[in-house]
Amino acid sequence: MNRFILAAILSLALCVAASAQAQKTKTNQNSTKPSQPAAAKSTQPMDTEYTDSIIKNTTDKMFLTELVDHLPASATVPSPAKILGYPIGTPGKLTYTADIYRYFEALAKASPRVKIFYAPEKSEEGRQQMLIVVSDEANIAKLSRYKEITAKLADPRTLNDDAAKQLISEGKAFYWASGSIHSPETGSCEMLMELAYRLAVEDSPTINAIRQNDIVMITPALEVDGHDAMVDLYNYRSANKGKRAPGLIYWGKYVAHDNNRDGLGMALALSRNQMATFLEYHPTILHDLHESVPFLYTSTGTGPYNAWLDPIVVDEWQTLAYYEIEEMTKRGVPGVWTHGFYDGWAPNYMFYVANGHNSIGRFYETFGNGGADTQDRVVRAESNRDWFRPNPPLPRVKWSIRNNINMQESAILLAMNYVANNKDKYLSNFYLKSERSVAKAKTEGPAAYVLPSSETRPVEQAELLNLLKLQGVEVQRLNKDIETKDGKFGAGSYVVRMDQPYSRMADMLLDTQYYNVNDPRPYDDTGWTLGPLHNVKTVRVKDIAILDAPMTLTNGNITPQGKTEGQGMAGIVVNHTGESAIAQLRFRLPDVKFTAAEAPFKIGDKNFNAGSYIIRAEGNSSDVWDKVKREVFALGLTATAVDKVPDVATHAISVPRIALVHTWINTQDEGWYRVELDRLGIPYTYISDQSIGKMTNLRDKFDVIIFGPVRTSAQNIVRGNASYGDKEAPIPWKKSDLTPNFAMAPDQTDDIRGGLGLRGIANIKDFVDAGGLFITVADNASLPIDFAITSGVTVQDAKQLQARGSVLNTVFADRRSPIAYGYDDKLTVYFNQSPILNVAAGGFGGGGGFGGGDNAGNTGRPSGRGTTAADDPDIPQGRTPDYLIPPTPPDPAAAALQPPPETRPRIVLRFAPEKELLASGMLAGGSELAGKPAVVDVPVGKGHVVMFANNPIWRHETHGSFSLLWNAILNYDNLNAGRSTGRGNRPDAGEEFYEQMDH
Ligand SMILES: [Zn+2]
Repeated sequence: MNRFILAAILSLALCVAASAQAQKTKTNQNSTKPSQPAAAKSTQPMDTEYTDSIIKNTTDKMFLTELVDHLPASATVPSPAKILGYPIGTPGKLTYTADIYRYFEALAKASPRVKIFYAPEKSEEGRQQMLIVVSDEANIAKLSRYKEITAKLADPRTLNDDAAKQLISEGKAFYWASGSIHSPETGSCEMLMELAYRLAVEDSPTINAIRQNDIVMITPALEVDGHDAMVDLYNYRSANKGKRAPGLIYWGKYVAHDNNRDGLGMALALSRNQMATFLEYHPTILHDLHESVPFLYTSTGTGPYNAWLDPIVVDEWQTLAYYEIEEMTKRGVPGVWTHGFYDGWAPNYMFYVANGHNSIGRFYETFGNGGADTQDRVVRAESNRDWFRPNPPLPRVKWSIRNNINMQESAILLAMNYVANNKDKYLSNFYLKSERSVAKAKTEGPAAYVLPSSETRPVEQAELLNLLKLQGVEVQRLNKDIETKDGKFGAGSYVVRMDQPYSRMADMLLDTQYYNVNDPRPYDDTGWTLGPLHNVKTVRVKDIAILDAPMTLTNGNITPQGKTEGQGMAGIVVNHTGESAIAQLRFRLPDVKFTAAEAPFKIGDKNFNAGSYIIRAEGNSSDVWDKVKREVFALGLTATAVDKVPDVATHAISVPRIALVHTWINTQDEGWYRVELDRLGIPYTYISDQSIGKMTNLRDKFDVIIFGPVRTSAQNIVRGNASYGDKEAPIPWKKSDLTPNFAMAPDQTDDIRGGLGLRGIANIKDFVDAGGLFITVADNASLPIDFAITSGVTVQDAKQLQARGSVLNTVFADRRSPIAYGYDDKLTVYFNQSPILNVAAGGFGGGGGFGGGDNAGNTGRPSGRGTTAADDPDIPQGRTPDYLIPPTPPDPAAAALQPPPETRPRIVLRFAPEKELLASGMLAGGSELAGKPAVVDVPVGKGHVVMFANNPIWRHETHGSFSLLWNAILNYDNLNAGRSTGRGNRPDAGEEFYEQMDH
């Protein structure tokens, strides 16, 4: 307590001192405003009214430059104020997408320097995504020629250096400014309208150079759905000043901030649009406009930098950033800096459509107020001077949206001008980087990745290959069997050659990552290796002989071949391959009666996995074969008609009624679940935790309840958004006159206050007792644990573990559990730091029963002699070593006191032993997680609680784990299938695991 008070006093004292200093600095800067760089001023007539608005709404001249302190007038081309009714940066004014588009349409109509296009796909809520191109009219007239030039430079395989030189000299640099992917970051949508006007009409050396040598591309509001919701929210807040208002609960239909973490998976329309637009224009620079830290952070990063990039692009980041910093600093603008924010490691950001494809992706973070109000702001850490921030932001500042716009617009004009003046260099670099990407196969390697034709999961293999193709990567197919030093590959195997223009992106997606824990704390995920995450085999081939193998380029999407075999009339068998298509088949044929085999079996010499579907002719309609055939073909599966139903235990697979629960605290991580459920056509009811609290009859409505991941404590979920009593007005998230766009949100409520509540817990307990399946993901395992719905499972605090967004190996502990159906012995999963689950010996009580951990090897080993190796025991002195004492046979009387085996938690999947745990990314202190449960099935009453420590559905990257969830759902009423009985006081896990662990 005292420590905090002292800290508060100290920081107050510092603030006062710093503020006084800031006042001095301010006075100095105002009186000695450095001489502006010459020749930037225009001599054309000015729009004085608009100019006055700029000056008036800028809180201090130090936040203004000669580039934006005026607006030229035009007799023919409308300024934003003429169309919108207010100048850009007017306090209280944010512009809806429809009005932004109305402005750009008017601008394009009036100016031959402006052209409008639309991205290929509409947003998830059905909005168009506009692309504006601005340049000199002569350039606009030859736009297709300039696109052709950058396309040729992008693929040096068809060029020689002389031809490239000519193209570089003829070509123009495309500079692409992309606004507001993050909807609460509102300034760029406004700024880009003014920027487009300025670029179209201003006659000054700076702008003329940009118009002549750059072709500027503008995406005014990339998250077009979220932008309109944000303008609604801002208007609601403005009309309800002094009342609590919600945050922006939904941005796009599915995810919020993570729309900028879709660069690997491309599940969202905005990512695919950006990728397609990139591949059409091959822009030199893609500049993503964000708002968070003061006053202008221009991207480089702390490192570690992504190791698959050409180092040239890293140098380009630095050059451009330092150019902007120097120029802005010369103009007396404080707080423009780089380096100390974000790392530069993961390629899951939107701007990897450029960085991953030999161009330059960069971003700004400017200071935004989350709306358009002028506010007194306190700057904390970033007001400290540091080596990378010699001219830091002021500790206190009055900040306006106009300031934000001035910063963004000035700096991006400087960057655009710099690139215009150096466009040959940047086009040459682009060509050089493309050449080096093609050379990569034989220089740094590998030569290729092969996805073998022997793959047992052809549907997921095709999915991964199609993702590579979406990323612009070429995929070839072997014409015949070949042998390399890295393996033999059959005809029909897919080859991703590393001698192609976008080899770096392919390598980045398929290679293994290692993130040293001593590096700066990661900004996001540390591992993402897509082959293992998709549970699809990818072979890294270094042997360049592969490049000479006969192969054919594939065209269009790869569609796995659906097949039917056999002529029997007794039934149809479909092997469980662990692919999502297996679950889809069930959901597509709700009227057909399915059963699942509870053990592996053979038909002839063909092996079928446990969980394989057996659809009997008996009990189904006579057209069942036609129905199954149709869907099997559509899904790329194989069905076998048999004249004798295999002799194996089965249980019925019904079509469960699924609820996906969200909170009003955070809808982001569960949004990725909706992405997959919608994509795969798995029906579900989307419901808030508040509603769960009001429904006493959950079991009548649902069979399975998935509580979407929230990343907070169970107590926070139960409490929900704080409520300050009846005197406070409700806080709605609902369509209204002020918030018309909330109608599109996936859910609405009259009041976001309160959460699941204790009644919600009771309702879930009743639901499970009555035979329902309750599924928790990652940290919300604490819901059933802390509120005593389950027994025998605890969450353990991490003391040493560091596994931030890592890809980890797991081992199936009980392959007879239906949750394991279709899988091999091992699986690679995504795990982000917590929870560490613990299952107690015998299934009750706290801690573990195996030396402090539950058979985790060396977890909890006390300090003492020797190494952590199992054959190097720590022997207490003066007595017989423990390992020489013969084991006591189990005492039947003691066993009788244990909970009955069928009530004990069943560990289905465990994290691998420490040495094998890390697949990709960061791992330290892995002994705390090694051997711990990844998936636990806890019987409760007539039902089950299944807890996932890994997140099976993460950012459209973890396709290999999806079936864990589908299996649990489809077998919700038969999860006890294959349970062993009576295993003494050990947690009920399969023997396979112990065999695995012992060597
Ligand atoms: Zn942002």
